[in-house]
Amino acid sequence: MSGIYLHIPFCKQACHYCDFHFSTQLRKKQAMVQAIAKELVLRKSEADDVVETIYFGGGTPSVLSNEEIEFLIQTVYDHYKVMDRPEITLEANPDDLSSHQIIQLSNSPINRLSIGIQSFFDEDLKLMNRAHNASEAEKCIQEATEYFDNITIDLIYGIPGMDNDRWKANIQKALDFGLPHISSYALTVEPRTALQKIIEKGVVPDVDDEQAQEQFYILVDMLEAHGFVNYEISNFGKSGFFSKNNTAYWLGKSYVGVGPSAHSFDGKNRSWNIRNNPTYIKKITEGLLPTEIETLSQTDRYNEYVMTGLRTIWGVSLEKIEKEFGVTYLDYLNLQAQKYVAQGLLQLADGKLLATKKGKFLVDGIASDLFMVNLEK
Ligand code: SF4
Repeated sequence: MSGIYLHIPFCKQACHYCDFHFSTQLRKKQAMVQAIAKELVLRKSEADDVVETIYFGGGTPSVLSNEEIEFLIQTVYDHYKVMDRPEITLEANPDDLSSHQIIQLSNSPINRLSIGIQSFFDEDLKLMNRAHNASEAEKCIQEATEYFDNITIDLIYGIPGMDNDRWKANIQKALDFGLPHISSYALTVEPRTALQKIIEKGVVPDVDDEQAQEQFYILVDMLEAHGFVNYEISNFGKSGFFSKNNTAYWLGKSYVGVGPSAHSFDGKNRSWNIRNNPTYIKKITEGLLPTEIETLSQTDRYNEYVMTGLRTIWGVSLEKIEKEFGVTYLDYLNLQAQKYVAQGLLQLADGKLLATKKGKFLVDGIASDLFMVNLEK
């Protein structure tokens, strides 16, 4: 299986918390679309298998016109072997999803929308400097559900000033729309973001980890009570609606990522493109790939598998650890995991190591304690 990820590095305005790669200067949009198409052609031999998912991420892919989206999808079809009815996802922001745009998209090959709602309340949206307001958020979901079955929305918890009642109301609104998938993330304060600066200046209070933890468990309880499966720490889907793109990534499948800052994985090597729009366009136009490559050591692959495995319902298979990494790794994992099993944060079931409900929120820290130190570098 192969996936294609297209990074569209433009946004209308910068959200205060964001450290993804994007530019608010849309002048170069046309040249960027041409460059991304050219990169798809340059790298066509890298997809070792049939393409099953195509994912437009960003940035804000919904700043592209319908023609630009269709042109890029057509470029994939022209140069890669694509399965019948692949999952094709477009990340979109509510302020781009007019009724007209939703209808146009529903007539395009896009068959899954991922809408960046983040909150249904203006106070939260303003604090995060989102480009949309609460009524646009509701209107666009309402309209999108008329044309798309497969919709996911993003919601953020742990926002300063958002108490548990407002968080519950946010989740309830999402449930009322009958959506089949929800992704939800804790607000994190990344270095050098506007959010970090306004917290330092005291304009808004710092994020409260305890509140974020409480809100995470409110989310898990409310969504599980409505038939969602928490198949990855931040992702909740109804049966048949898990993200194929993300699931392939968590299961260690290969993917080709194009566009500035996009990452790729071929089973052994990780690579990533330069995070600079003008340099990316210039290099690609010259027929050069602005890409750095890192070959993963056995220890890197073990550490990645432990991290992604513990974050998902598929867990870490002890048999796979022994088969792929050897008994030294297996013994190390069992030894390191012992205290977390004793504390009820991890559990062993059917030969798999999994995070318990209590351990879920802490899973990144626990996983890093199970990492092997990389002696091969
Ligand atoms: S729209 Fe998304 S990518 Fe763009 S600034 Fe906001 S969070 Fe970042």
